[in-house]
Amino acid sequence: MAGGIAAGGQLTTTTDIENFPGFPEGISGPELMQRMRQQSVNCGADIRTETISKVNFNQKPFQLWREGDEAGEPILADSVIVSTGATARRPGLPGEIEYWQKGISACAVCDGGLPFFRNKPLAVIGGGDSATEEAGYLTKFGSKVYLIHRRDKLRASQIMVERTLKNPKIEMVWDSVPVEALGDGKLLTQLKIKNVKTNEEKILEVSGLFYAIGHKPNTEPFEKELDLDETGYIITKPNSTQTNIPGIFAAGDVQDKKYRQAITAAGSGCMAAIEVEHFLST
Ligand code: NDP
Repeated sequence: MAGGIAAGGQLTTTTDIENFPGFPEGISGPELMQRMRQQSVNCGADIRTETISKVNFNQKPFQLWREGDEAGEPILADSVIVSTGATARRPGLPGEIEYWQKGISACAVCDGGLPFFRNKPLAVIGGGDSATEEAGYLTKFGSKVYLIHRRDKLRASQIMVERTLKNPKIEMVWDSVPVEALGDGKLLTQLKIKNVKTNEEKILEVSGLFYAIGHKPNTEPFEKELDLDETGYIITKPNSTQTNIPGIFAAGDVQDKKYRQAITAAGSGCMAAIEVEHFLST
């Protein structure tokens, strides 16, 4: 487990992935992960399903301990690729579990193209670069997009703020937070929101609710060992997956807060594999 998500990561909790090359009709997240797993087994990978809770990267071979057995024998490794991903933050609304992936998503780029969002009003929560970028992206599919932010000023970069405020299909809902996701038992149909200044509640008719309130990289076991940036992401050398410790590499969302797509994560995994091979052969 990493960030509460089992092996396979965030993609195991999404529905259709429309933007992974080679699948023109899209593919479900769990199926894509199952195929990648099978492909690596076919190539000779020996997969052990364990949760790692503690590491020591200050001696060779590197040591890794299984959760619940931190005083026991460590797993030893000459090189390690950390690819524990990041977890999208969720506000934990009533109705969120019921309508998760049935109208509620944490990734507009992954899910925004799904048929049940077409020409329907949609909502995005957040005020950063992700929220503004996702709101703009969703205007291609939805009839309109409410951008709901808890303050009266966006945190996003100036260019994104200007673009967002100029977009006729985006309606800003300031000083507001989501309160409850409501639906017909099958799909999301409404969102109850509250103005935090007046405490006034109102219902928005929406078929989509997209969270863009940040991600938490799954770096807890590595906090003392690896250099992390101010938001907890592993720092890798430019154009490389190399961390501050030779032999320890990081790939995917645990070191990428910008692109966060399945294909970019897969690409950096390929980079890490090549770099491990070089490291072990020199
Ligand atoms: P941020 O942390 O920048 O923004 C999160 C937003 O969500 C903030 O506006 C915050 O509000 C709001 N928020 C947080 N928690 C809650 C909550 N519980 N309820 C309601 N709202 C909440 O995350 P991003 O994912 O937008 O960006 C992360 C980093 O990635 C940034 O450095 C960003 O610049 C970068 N990025 C760059 C992109 C690009 O270059 N194209 C694209 C996307 C991201 P408040 O403002 O009040 O704190």
